[in-house]
Amino acid sequence: MTHWRVAPAAQLAKGQESAVDTVPLKWAHDAATGAPRYIHDPEVVDKTGTCICPACELALTPVLAGQPMRVRPTAHFRHPAGALRDACVLVAARAAAVRHLAERGFIDLPRRTMSARAQGFSGQDYEVWVEEPAEQVRVSSARMHDHATALLTLDDGRELTVDLTGTREPRADGSGHAVVTIALSDPALAMLDADAIRARLRVLPDMRWCSHWNEQDLVLRSRTAAQRAVSDALDGWGDDDEAEFLSNLPDDMTPAEAQAYRRETLLHREAKAALEAAEAIETPGLEVIVTRHPPEELAGDWDDQTIRKVWLTGRRRLELDDVCLERRLGRIVPDVIATLGGRQIYTHGGTLTRVGDEFDEDAEDGYAPAWPPTLLIEVKVTHGIDDEKLRRIQQLDVPTLEIDLGSLGGRLSREQFRDLVVNQIVGKRWVHHPALAGKRRVLESEIDEHPVCLEWAQRIREFNRPRWLAKPAEHWVSAYLSAATGFHDSSVQIRRAQRTRNPADAPVKVLGPEDVEWQELAAAAEALDAHGLPGGMDREMISDTGLVPRILSIRHNRGIGYAVDSGFQVLNAIMQSGEDNRRWHTLYTIAVKAYGLAQHFSEKQARLYAAWRQLIVERVEAVDETYLRPGTYDATLSALFPEMAARIATGYGLSKKR
Ligand SMILES: [Zn+2]
Repeated sequence: MTHWRVAPAAQLAKGQESAVDTVPLKWAHDAATGAPRYIHDPEVVDKTGTCICPACELALTPVLAGQPMRVRPTAHFRHPAGALRDACVLVAARAAAVRHLAERGFIDLPRRTMSARAQGFSGQDYEVWVEEPAEQVRVSSARMHDHATALLTLDDGRELTVDLTGTREPRADGSGHAVVTIALSDPALAMLDADAIRARLRVLPDMRWCSHWNEQDLVLRSRTAAQRAVSDALDGWGDDDEAEFLSNLPDDMTPAEAQAYRRETLLHREAKAALEAAEAIETPGLEVIVTRHPPEELAGDWDDQTIRKVWLTGRRRLELDDVCLERRLGRIVPDVIATLGGRQIYTHGGTLTRVGDEFDEDAEDGYAPAWPPTLLIEVKVTHGIDDEKLRRIQQLDVPTLEIDLGSLGGRLSREQFRDLVVNQIVGKRWVHHPALAGKRRVLESEIDEHPVCLEWAQRIREFNRPRWLAKPAEHWVSAYLSAATGFHDSSVQIRRAQRTRNPADAPVKVLGPEDVEWQELAAAAEALDAHGLPGGMDREMISDTGLVPRILSIRHNRGIGYAVDSGFQVLNAIMQSGEDNRRWHTLYTIAVKAYGLAQHFSEKQARLYAAWRQLIVERVEAVDETYLRPGTYDATLSALFPEMAARIATGYGLSKKR
């Protein structure tokens, strides 16, 4: 038999006492068996047993039992005089309900849901729900624990506390104890007969979980799921990552900077992981744009004649054979070093030319250089490649792709993010590609040869002509020789610096049209041309191995354009020069004679020179065309080097062919 412990009224759910004080007591317990007795049960009507109050255990007297139609008063159990407790009516009804629940043999438990929140680096909140599904469980026994709770023992041995007030708050006490709360506080419950209570038990009103057997597991699962939601949105990471991040965090970082750095670190890492897993990467096309504006001297009519050449290749998917993260290459540590797989790739593109707004020409590449097998990938979030790193990348001369994740913006799932990094070209740009510099040179020289550009040059010559003619040719001869000497001395210094430089340093640039030495030389050459002395900027004349630096070397008995000390050493280089250069040999012998270089020869040098000169004499006499020169530069050279003029004028060594 069940013993009911009666709690003080204060332990009852608040608000019930006043509601039940007019409610008659309809339920009692059989004193002998503990079975619930309704006021109209036959045992009560026949008075075959003694009834007691399930709450206070006092003996009760049935009033009007078996007369359900009577009202005021209605049938009820009466406590002994002065002993009535208001709470007894509900407790009695609940006891009856619990008894019926046990008889029924099962209970339908609702699903248990639980939510958890986590905040991302962006400040966004992520809420997730996890649940244990609803289930029907078999009840093997049910007993009142106190007037407000019952304890169900399930077939599988688990215990379930049923709070009968319907008001208990959920709490995760983590004790592994399950509690549901059912609203059995309605005063009307006390009035219900057995069938009505059974009916109510079939559809348990407002049953909800206060605590589930798997409460701890649910808490853990929901927290994990919230963390995963943050992580999947690329907006946060786990405790291990955070610990590692903090251990590497510079001391002087503000919380706001640290938060930005967290996001950067995370996206950086995700991108690298995506690339490491990828078998190919989509890359944008290569592009070189060269624009030539009309010279300032022509300002006005030509302003809309800007020449623009754009060279493009298509975007392409590069197969990746091998992907390494943050491995040192030379003096840099790229985010990713990939080895390209698949077929050999060529940079095949096309060039579009426009003059002003007009389409001019569209040409496909005739020659497509092969790609190197290595690809570097740099991932940018907020900080791009700095100048120092760029310089080192250029030095390595390896195709280098930058992926700017900062521009991808918005909130992306991991899948979307990986798709962008691997399969799309948004945010990607070529920081460096070996094909670009060569292509730029080609476009520059194509522009030089463009009819519009040639026309400009012609106009500029005409524009400058009065200035060139304002001074005598002798002035420009002197200017030209001085500029040529300066140009070649600078070139020699640059080449020497190239040879002795630390291989890790940036390559030294050779002199070009944008350098002042070049411009002075070109201006003097143009002035000479205006005076009828052409060819001053031709390769044959002015290149490292051209006539002018060689004759200057002989004249001054030192290397000019040659990193040697004496005129003979330059002459020695000339003696070794290839067949193409032999046609100019007679001019060098004329220079040696004209400037008396032989006086500086040692005996051995004199012998070597004599033998070489003898060979030239014989070949000229034999009319060997490889030793005969065109007259192209005779006039200009005679003006530049007047000491040679008389001998040049004899026509010695001149080809008769046209
Ligand atoms: Zn009582």
